[in-house]
Amino acid sequence: MKEMHDELEGYCRMLGHRLPFRYCRGANEGLPCRKIMDCWYDVFPVLEFLAGNYSEEELKAAFGAPRKTRIESIIEIVHRARNGVEDSGGE
Ligand code: SF4
Repeated sequence: MKEMHDELEGYCRMLGHRLPFRYCRGANEGLPCRKIMDCWYDVFPVLEFLAGNYSEEELKAAFGAPRKTRIESIIEIVHRARNGVEDSGGE
C-alpha cells in the first residue's frame, strides 16, 4: 500500500523545508523522487517500500540509467520480494 508512510515528515534538502513522504513518492512525475533512498533510509525500510509498491519498469523510469548500481540493487530486492511473495502463496 503506497499510502502507508504518507504522513511521515522530513526535511527536503532540494526544496529547503519539511514535507510529507506523500510528496516524495510522487515527486518524479508521479514516481518516487530520485533521492528518496538517501532521504528516508533511516526513517523506515524505504527499499522494501519501493520493491513492494513499484514495478521494475517504474523503478527504472524513476531512477534512470545514471544510477545503475542502485537500480540493480532495487531490482534485486524486487526479485527477492516477489520470490518471497510467491513462496508464501501470495499474488
Ligand atoms: S525524497 Fe526528494 S522530495 Fe523527498 S525530501 Fe528527499 S529530496 Fe526532497
